[in-house]
Amino acid sequence: MSSKIFKAILLIAFSTLLGTLLIITVCMFDYFGTVQKNQLVGELSIAARGTEVAGKDFLNQLDLKNYRITWVAKDGTVLFDNEINPANMENHADREEIKEAFEHGTGSSSRYSKTLTKKTVYEAVRLTDGTVLRISAGRITVFVLLLSMIQPILIVSIFVVILSAVLGKRMAKRIVEPLNRLDLDNPLENDTYEELSPLLRCIQGQQREIQRTLACLKQKRDEFNQITGNMRESLILLDNAGAIITINLSAKKLFRVTDTCIGRNIIEVDRHQNIRDFMQKSMENGHAEFRENRNGREYQFDLSRIVSDDAVVGTVILAFDITEQAEAERGRREFTANVSHELKTPLQGIIGYTDLMESGLAKSEDIPRFVGYIKKEASRLVTLIEDIIRLSQLDEGTDMPVSEVSLGHLADEVCKTLFDAAKSKNISLSWSGADGNMYGVKRLLYEIVYNLCDNAITYNRSGGSVKITVSEDDKNVRLEVADTGIGIPAEHQERVFERFYRVDKSHSKQSGGTGLGLSIVKHAVAYHHGKIALESEPNKGTVITVAFPKKSLV
Ligand code: ADP
Repeated sequence: MSSKIFKAILLIAFSTLLGTLLIITVCMFDYFGTVQKNQLVGELSIAARGTEVAGKDFLNQLDLKNYRITWVAKDGTVLFDNEINPANMENHADREEIKEAFEHGTGSSSRYSKTLTKKTVYEAVRLTDGTVLRISAGRITVFVLLLSMIQPILIVSIFVVILSAVLGKRMAKRIVEPLNRLDLDNPLENDTYEELSPLLRCIQGQQREIQRTLACLKQKRDEFNQITGNMRESLILLDNAGAIITINLSAKKLFRVTDTCIGRNIIEVDRHQNIRDFMQKSMENGHAEFRENRNGREYQFDLSRIVSDDAVVGTVILAFDITEQAEAERGRREFTANVSHELKTPLQGIIGYTDLMESGLAKSEDIPRFVGYIKKEASRLVTLIEDIIRLSQLDEGTDMPVSEVSLGHLADEVCKTLFDAAKSKNISLSWSGADGNMYGVKRLLYEIVYNLCDNAITYNRSGGSVKITVSEDDKNVRLEVADTGIGIPAEHQERVFERFYRVDKSHSKQSGGTGLGLSIVKHAVAYHHGKIALESEPNKGTVITVAFPKKSLV
């Protein structure tokens, strides 16, 4: 700053100095010209008077150092010259000042003298005898004039430099000091020079703008944190070098990290090879995804490259807990495979018997037996398909008609339906207890009672019993089906509710079981928001209890 001010002052001072010098030189040059002319005229007048009286002798005795005197005859012949031999001089009649003096008595001119080889001033006067006396002197030049002033110019220049440096420093201090004292947090409260007001107003405006923008950014960041903080999905934003910019609560739990991981590279924070590999893939392809088990649950990781203005600015990692979904997928796959298998077996049996009959290999007395097999397998297929349809209806959770149902009446109905089946196996079947009125889907409740009783008969022994008990209190209705059958070993008890799970496959199939009965029961109970419990001891029997809230479906 001081150096700039110094330079500016120096420039102004030197420009002024140069201008002044120019004017002074012009004035002085003019002044010295007039003085010289007057001196020449004075000297010429003295010399003219002397020449009038003593002629050449007067001129010869003159001690002339600064002037040149030339005496010219009427015809222009040079009679005398104090610097050059007149014999060597040409005729001077055509010289401007001499011509003028011949004509008007006096003459003057100024020109470059070939003789003296310099700019010369001439003054001439005609004497009484008609001759002309001329005096001349070298004209003072601008260069000489300047040369004569060199010393004062130098002194003034040095003075100007010193003065400019001192003034520059002082002015810079005076300008800068108030600037240094400025309170930029409150620009308009500064008491400083007026010229700064527009700047301070501008700063104030910009400050307001910055504050507004910051508040807006903060609000947006808070909103973002609020949204991502409450997300169940894990979210991590990385910059283009892989450093963590943002990580939400769910992701912190998943990766078992705290806020200190912000700014660190994801590869350092999470040492799993998959993250490293799929980061690379997402950088190359724009997107990558993988599944991985973490903390005992299954997660899907989605990695997407973020591009802005054709440049990669970062990566976003989203992780979803897909444990239930994956289990459901697995279940569906297993179910499809089981369904295919279960459908295929009876169909193969049917095709086998029909092939035998068609080829004529079957004896005519065997044909009724084969038809019986075919009928049995076909009805197994129908039962299986009906069970699958029921299960898929329950899976879809479609609304079914709800009405007031008496569980006691249903138990009675089931007893009547299964009476023959129980009797054929020498099993006593009975029900007792309350009406057990509740709101529910009659068809589903019937299925529950029927399947439980059917199993209790199927997996029983000759001479055994099946007892159905219905009880109720203010809130719940309970159904208990107890048998004295083969029982279920402890390790199978959890799994008998799975689709197509059978403890003894051959026994189940022989008795026409589909392996879906208890699965349907479980879903139908869940549909009514009920609870199911199983107690069983091998060779002693099984007790299955179901508790329904009376008004859960109202
Ligand atoms: P299934 O059509 O084979 O009877 P379920 O789903 O009804 O299929 O039953 C699954 C398996 O549970 C049966 O195969 C059987 O092994 C066992 N099970 C069910 N109920 C009883 C019971 N009361 N006593 C003993 N085992 C049973």
